[in-house]
Amino acid sequence: MSWTAWANQQEEIETSPKIADEIKTTTCYMCACRCGIKVYLRDGSVRFIEGNRDHPVNKGVLCAKGAAGIMQLNSPARLTKPLKRVGERGSGEFKEIEWDEALDIATAWLARCRATDPRKLAFFTGRDQSQSLTSWWAQQFGTPNYAAHGGFCSVNMATAGIYTIGGSFWEFGEPDWEHTRYFMMFGVAEDHDSNPIKIGLGKLKKKGVKFVSVNPIRTGYSAIADEWLAITPGTDGLFVLSLVHELLRAGKVDVEYLSRYTNAGWLVIDDPGGAEDGRFARNEDGKPLCWDARDGAIAPALGKDATPSLKGSITLPDGRSARPSFHILAERYLDEQYSPDAVASRTGLTAETIRRIAAELAHAAFEQEVIIEQPWTDWAGRKHERMVGRPVTFHAMRGISAHSNGFHTCRALHLLQMLLGAIDCPGGLRHKPPYPKSLASLPRAFGLKRDIKPNTPLSGPHLGFLRSPEDLLVGTSGRPQRIDKAFSWEAPLASHGMMHMVITNAWKGDPYPIDTLFMYMANMAWNSAMNTVDTIRMLTDKDAETGEYKIPRIIYSDAFYSETVAYADLVLPDTTYLERFDCISLLDRPISSADGPADAIRQPVVTPDRDVRPFQDVLLDLGARLGLAGMVDDDGRPQYPGGYADYIVNHQRRPGIGPLAGWRGADGDKSGYGEPNPNQLDRYIENQCFWRQELAPGIKYFRNVNRDYLAYAVKMGFVVNDEPIICQLYLEEMQSFRLAAQGHGPVQPPDEHRARIEKYFDPLPIWYPPFEEDLAGDYPLHAITQRPMAMYHSWGSQNAWLRQIHGANRLYVGRATAGKLGIVDDDWVWVISRTGRIKVQVKLMEGVNGDTVWTWNAIGKRAGAWNLDPRATEARQGFLLNHLIDELLPEREGGYRYSNSDPVTGQAAWYDLRVRIEKALAVEAGECEPSFPTLGVPKGLAKRPDILRYGAQFRQGRSA
Ligand code: SF4
Repeated sequence: MSWTAWANQQEEIETSPKIADEIKTTTCYMCACRCGIKVYLRDGSVRFIEGNRDHPVNKGVLCAKGAAGIMQLNSPARLTKPLKRVGERGSGEFKEIEWDEALDIATAWLARCRATDPRKLAFFTGRDQSQSLTSWWAQQFGTPNYAAHGGFCSVNMATAGIYTIGGSFWEFGEPDWEHTRYFMMFGVAEDHDSNPIKIGLGKLKKKGVKFVSVNPIRTGYSAIADEWLAITPGTDGLFVLSLVHELLRAGKVDVEYLSRYTNAGWLVIDDPGGAEDGRFARNEDGKPLCWDARDGAIAPALGKDATPSLKGSITLPDGRSARPSFHILAERYLDEQYSPDAVASRTGLTAETIRRIAAELAHAAFEQEVIIEQPWTDWAGRKHERMVGRPVTFHAMRGISAHSNGFHTCRALHLLQMLLGAIDCPGGLRHKPPYPKSLASLPRAFGLKRDIKPNTPLSGPHLGFLRSPEDLLVGTSGRPQRIDKAFSWEAPLASHGMMHMVITNAWKGDPYPIDTLFMYMANMAWNSAMNTVDTIRMLTDKDAETGEYKIPRIIYSDAFYSETVAYADLVLPDTTYLERFDCISLLDRPISSADGPADAIRQPVVTPDRDVRPFQDVLLDLGARLGLAGMVDDDGRPQYPGGYADYIVNHQRRPGIGPLAGWRGADGDKSGYGEPNPNQLDRYIENQCFWRQELAPGIKYFRNVNRDYLAYAVKMGFVVNDEPIICQLYLEEMQSFRLAAQGHGPVQPPDEHRARIEKYFDPLPIWYPPFEEDLAGDYPLHAITQRPMAMYHSWGSQNAWLRQIHGANRLYVGRATAGKLGIVDDDWVWVISRTGRIKVQVKLMEGVNGDTVWTWNAIGKRAGAWNLDPRATEARQGFLLNHLIDELLPEREGGYRYSNSDPVTGQAAWYDLRVRIEKALAVEAGECEPSFPTLGVPKGLAKRPDILRYGAQFRQGRSA
């Protein structure tokens, strides 16, 4: 082309191209955060995903994962049809079958379990967002063996919070981003509550509010922290209790708050050896007592005019002595063992730093009060002219939770908040409705053997909150009743179950064998398993006599060909989140904000192009085929013939209470309570797939004790009564287990568990080294994972866009540590634990605690899984720490092996891992180990292209 022709060329540029012919709103499901999204469609296919600016969760913010949701729909790893295994487990040899046959097989297996012994079914789900349905289904089935992922996630955080302050972080509560003056974040890289945290941190940065991140690794949010504290893993509790020591020493605690709204003034019986030692002194009505400082007499602690004293020792009318719980607490934490000088070296922090942080907290809390000119009335009828807040706030998650000392660490953090008076106040941690909840509003756990009968529902929910040993799910000899041993003496307060123990226990037949393992979106043969190598062996192990698999039947539902699919006998293919209705319910884990309750739905934005069905539809179909109560009508016909959408609208858990709280009632004019509204889903869709209610200004804070809020919460069905939800510095429920271990009460632990229960069921927070610390001599380094911003566990494993960001992982080692070991960048090393060894490549960095190595979570893939090329980088240069983590602790005296869990809640102790590093030989460099045989790919999956492109087909001249 000549210069003149080129210069005169008239190029047509479409400055405002038509992006879409339709925009549908729905809810993202690329991680657990549940942001609102707008999906742009053209000619029926998704062109673009945008954050919904009107949505209460993300206000338009969208992360890389959310934008990459398009590629879930274009993944060759999508399952396409029900599959029946024809080869050996793990071979990947399946036969495609029709849905009728698949459902007939599943129904036959499940019906046989139900008719003989419902315990033979173990039903466990991963990070699914329909737990109010799945748990109800399991309850109607009658098996005690149900839970979701919480036991291997952050149950320590949730359980410690519920027992202590009636709420917790993330789905339960959020920092008061608008008013806080000091923000501390513990053990969070980039995970739960993702976009709201980013929005909140942005607000803090604009205002210059100090943000302190406590994390062994400076990644994710820590990268923008004003101060990063490179704490040694598993010592957060010690650090927090040292802060408590400093605050107590300086007298910087909120005495009025403690006296009125916590159990600081409740009298604790001091009667060593007695059956009531350590319990609260109570009157004849069972009400806790205090020493009333004004009247100089013993009085009900919850009397409306009581002024509980926080110190001293008094003699009860029966002659026993008693002290306020705060007095006991102060004595304990003022002890020198908690001083900054005593704990500094262990935590990896300096004593000066601990003292300074304590002083900064005190300064923010007491010198920078936040005042909102809003009157409110507390539960006792005391009128307050304004809301006065202590503007320090905390956020914490798995980093402090996933240790064997995590429960007490999480309790310690809540204790610190209470001492500062920073619970649900302006500038503090704010509850999200339906929280706070009192224990009285929460169920116990059901599943005792005597309650389990063939073809009979369980009489209550599986997962709950125990008050005393009498609530445990154990037999007369103390034997666990659930397959995961949750709510047994091994893990009494296992409020979320112990999913990480299911395969091991089922394989062993301990406490009993099962027949069918039914799992949903839980990659239990890979990144959701501890001790992956043995887990795979257990899934494929056969009984020598019968030749039958030791776990006889496995049903699995997933949308993609994950590692676990290969080990199933029957595969029920799920849709992606863009192809179905879903419900994010107040009955489950809602999307409320501190300013008001909210829930949401997903709607199908595209129609599946494969023979797949939403798992929730399938579950209701199976329920109807099995004739489960509530899933069939009086004539035995399906109660919800329209599937999950029908259930969402018409199911009532209690009269007037259903999965969605918005637009209830025949005319859609009721919120919370109300009869089903046939047009409810339409109303949600009109409102961009969410509902929220703004609380009145007078009930936005101090909700544990705010009279008008408590009345509102009763009206909405959040709590059973309007009693104040008193924060529990001292946890009497813990003491009841300790007393049982000391030989008191009708239900006592077997001898082999007594010492453990007595030690770990302390009613005040304690710190002890994580259990693997015993191994520190041979394994001097801590090894942990962080979640990257662009990958949520294995959910993005097959996502072509996200794989480009995280297609391989390295072991990150501090430069100083590496120098001592003679390791340089890019070296290959062996990482060795008590359980196994892996070979990985090293990357050096500065921002990591000197005793810690780490990597990204869930990047390594099994060759062949996810329909990736067997030579994909994820299989060759990707690895998991899971191979190094045993699900059991080393054998103790007597031969018993406890699970590798917190002894209070059963939380999987992922982050206790200890390792050592050895440099690999030059000839060993190149690929990660262990390598596993390549999984076969089932027929019917889409052909894997060499390069997966998306978008080019939409260019002019190409077909869509
Ligand atoms: S944070 Fe999670 S829910 Fe929100 S857009 Fe990202 S992936 Fe989706």
